[in-house]
Amino acid sequence: MADCLFCKIIAGEIPSAKVYEDEYCYAFRDIHPQAPVHVLVVSKEHVANVKEAAALSDASLAAIIRAIGKIAQQENLAEGFRVVTNCGKNACQSVNHLHFHILGGRQMADQMA
Ligand code: AMP
Repeated sequence: MADCLFCKIIAGEIPSAKVYEDEYCYAFRDIHPQAPVHVLVVSKEHVANVKEAAALSDASLAAIIRAIGKIAQQENLAEGFRVVTNCGKNACQSVNHLHFHILGGRQMADQMA
């Protein structure tokens, strides 16, 4: 998508600290980390958020979940981690391209919100 920040990052037009990449998804460090490990996993195909994710192929959806597990291992998150995806205004989604936050490296709060 022409004017999408994460599409530009995937295309290499905007720099990012790459953590993982495969045919279906790309992962990089969040520019404003909220935990010692804060990685964003984004679908290579542009969809706005998880509400629109049904438009992705099953292969793409499966690849994203598999990538999360691989990245957690790569980042030594054996003690646990949190996966968050914000969807829409009430969830304060700020980039309208499907992405999953992987947060770890410290004890997470008991309350999720
Ligand atoms: P969300 O608010 O769930 O849409 O998450 C968007 C995330 O993208 C935020 O955590 C931002 O810090 C992060 N972000 C914005 N621009 C960049 C960038 N250029 N590189 C890495 N992360 C970014």
